[in-house]
Amino acid sequence: MSTMKAKKSPAMPRGKEPSHQEGARPDSPAFALEQNPWHMAMRQLDRAAERLRVEPYITERLKYCKRILTVSVPTVMDDGSVKVFEGFRVQHNMDRGPTKGGIRYHPCLNLDEVKALAFWMTMKCAVVEVPYGGAKGGVVCDPKTMSEDELRRMTRRFTSEISIVIGPERDIPAPDVNTNAKIMSWMMDTYSHLAGYAVPGVVTGKPFDVGGSRGRVEATGRGVVFVTRELAKASGFDLAGSKVAVQGFGNVGSNAARIFAEHGARVVAVSDVAGGLYDPKGIDIAELVAYRDKHGVIAGYPKADKVPADSFVEVPCDILVPAALENAITSRNAGKVRAKYVVEGANGPTTTEADAILDKRGIVVVPDILANAGGVVVSYFEWVQDIQAFFWKESTINESLDDIMTKSFKDIRAIQESKKVDMRLAAFMLGLERLAGAIRYRGIFP
Ligand code: GLU
Repeated sequence: MSTMKAKKSPAMPRGKEPSHQEGARPDSPAFALEQNPWHMAMRQLDRAAERLRVEPYITERLKYCKRILTVSVPTVMDDGSVKVFEGFRVQHNMDRGPTKGGIRYHPCLNLDEVKALAFWMTMKCAVVEVPYGGAKGGVVCDPKTMSEDELRRMTRRFTSEISIVIGPERDIPAPDVNTNAKIMSWMMDTYSHLAGYAVPGVVTGKPFDVGGSRGRVEATGRGVVFVTRELAKASGFDLAGSKVAVQGFGNVGSNAARIFAEHGARVVAVSDVAGGLYDPKGIDIAELVAYRDKHGVIAGYPKADKVPADSFVEVPCDILVPAALENAITSRNAGKVRAKYVVEGANGPTTTEADAILDKRGIVVVPDILANAGGVVVSYFEWVQDIQAFFWKESTINESLDDIMTKSFKDIRAIQESKKVDMRLAAFMLGLERLAGAIRYRGIFP
């Protein structure tokens, strides 16, 4: 970042100067453990459980996933060979309703990650009060190296393999990293063929023509901006004019960046897997989206400076939005974050060690289970519309999303203030309290 100079934001005060703390050695077992998402998720649960003093059996229950399915996904590749992929569907908890959560395609996907993502869905659904438990699934594959036909065959076989545990009343998948509306339509079609009739409510995030909801594609990014707007109101700064850096230019990152710009914020930096871009005057996001659609990546966009992907979180900005994968901010780089606020568009982008460092430096973290919940909220609307076969207009969707995100922000803020805790702990306390209520009411079978 040597070419960039941090300038004082006119809109709000900046966090304390970077301490350049190095954290655990990159090759140490401690750093590996720090970055294990399931380990991290359980530490977050323990913190909230200790503070709330819930019955130990409730915490213990949430440390086990209700159901874990591992499947093999044989797929005929374009050259006629058969490749076998590994897939997962994890249902973490169903005390508050059927389980819900995305399908991720990634070469590094592993079971601990899927378990953690399912657990975070359980907490997220409780925080925004949608009547679901958490699930997650995915396939270990590199979709960037696969043709559309290969992806379609793999998706259909994966869907048929997990069809024994999913369904509109049981477990409802949705898009996540590297999956999209088209993949959801293949999943819906495959499940419907197995059932013998159209079952639109089996997945959400579908194209509108097969029972998708208006506003679902943008929902997670829109929710990130609604929550940041509430944060600005509560903290006394203007979102308009604030400098925002968005890590990740997939569905969440690109839509958040565009909607931030619509709210008058200055998007000074964005990145994707190949690298980042920085322009202190602000990047024209609509133009960048057009560039990405034409070239496939944002690298090479001529109107901004390059930033290496591995130091992106160090860019000077007011609000940093990690919207890519887990472990973006760790003990090794938390000391170098220059933002005053971190709003988590991704799931699990900040490790527990990094949380402590950011907190000590006065940097506020808006946790994933609130910040990126807009996606599952509009998924819920989609599921309700599918079940009722009655579809809402986009303004109704966006207003209802705003109501839920704003209320959830305020609920968490109230706990934060009354209990004097950070926002992550407040969010986990809120989610855990609601879950504990459901677990107590339902009791233990038999
Ligand atoms: N994959 C998204 C998430 O992590 C959305 C899940 C859903 O809509 O069910 O929240």
